[in-house]
Amino acid sequence: MSRDPDPVALEGGLHRFVHRTRPLEVRFGAGRVAEAGSLLETCGIRRALVVSTRSGMVRAVSMLEALGEGVAGRFDGARVHVPESVVAEALRVADRSGADGYLAVGGGSAIGVAKAMALETGAPMVAVPTTYSGSEMTHVWGVTSAGGKRTGRDDRVAPRGVIYDPELLVGLPSPLGAESGVNALAHAVEALYAPDRTPLSTLLAEEGIRALGEGLPGLLRRPEDLTHPSTTLRGAHLAGWALDLTTMGLQHKLAHVLGGTFDLPHARVHAILLPHVVAWNGPAAPGAMRRLVRALGGDGATEGEGSGVPRGAAALERLNDRVGIPRSLAHLELDRGALEQVADLALEAPYANPRPVTRDGVREILESAWSGRSYL
Ligand code: NAD
Repeated sequence: MSRDPDPVALEGGLHRFVHRTRPLEVRFGAGRVAEAGSLLETCGIRRALVVSTRSGMVRAVSMLEALGEGVAGRFDGARVHVPESVVAEALRVADRSGADGYLAVGGGSAIGVAKAMALETGAPMVAVPTTYSGSEMTHVWGVTSAGGKRTGRDDRVAPRGVIYDPELLVGLPSPLGAESGVNALAHAVEALYAPDRTPLSTLLAEEGIRALGEGLPGLLRRPEDLTHPSTTLRGAHLAGWALDLTTMGLQHKLAHVLGGTFDLPHARVHAILLPHVVAWNGPAAPGAMRRLVRALGGDGATEGEGSGVPRGAAALERLNDRVGIPRSLAHLELDRGALEQVADLALEAPYANPRPVTRDGVREILESAWSGRSYL
């Protein structure tokens, strides 16, 4: 199964890739949220609809005061998995307010609602992330309706500007912060073995994993120390960028099925699944596993050799344990009987994955994740 000796050099060692880019201004640093007004202006937005969750709007209040006339209105009904009905309501509010763009303040849910709006209207958006979801760096959108979660890629939904202010993440409570950080890690891990990876996406992914592995444990140990959210946010930025440049595999497919169809918390599902998907995919992506283990502080050179222990999965499990991620999907009160339906849905459409996806394989991953199998 070892057909991936170097995660960047494809096709028998000859590089062949496409790299696309879009105009984007990223401002990173403590206190930079004060620059929201000037970034809106740079991105051509005169009057923004502020999009957030209810609690996110409370956190955004002081920033909104500073924006003054730059705020056309507020929509604080963003919800996880971006329900279609929420997007329709947000568009009505935007229409009434006369907004010419959106300012998303919050996690992947707030940014996701603004993206779905931009998909409809083509209006520009600035994002101020307050979690580590990485959505602000991507042109990926997702909307949930009765039929499940639809996702797609479209340049219209990509934010034109992003402000990363680690001070906004100091109050992100655990386990939310840890789960969100491991969600970012999942983007970077899948970018490492994506079929359309490029030299840049691989660099971003590896450095993103390194920063997340360094920043995440500190969030729990010393939550008041700005260094940890800053390092973790830098990792989330790089991982989100890697996600933007590549096609995600089985990990993301399973997370979307479990989140969208069974209404489970997106980031926590990602975090619990990740070691199990990596244990299963690892043998088909040894080069990616070497980079993963190296970025998490291990000896990547010997990954895949000898004992047969999936060291990438073990390194991820160890990190999950350190940051308090539950080991099993059973913690989410997911009935074991539902695994069959998850497998059916995950197998509905073919998609990129380093190891060919089979029903037995998906069942094996789901059983391991449900029972909390250990790789240590
Ligand atoms: P979220 O946005 O739902 O936030 C979780 C909760 O945390 C919310 O109640 C929110 O109000 C609260 N919160 C946010 N920031 C906070 C802070 N600083 N302090 C205290 N509370 C805070 O969760 P998420 O994990 O950021 O995003 C999940 C969603 O994002 C899913 O729908 C997922 O599909 C999507 N997503 C999309 C992409 C993409 O590229 N399109 C990438 C990653 C995630």
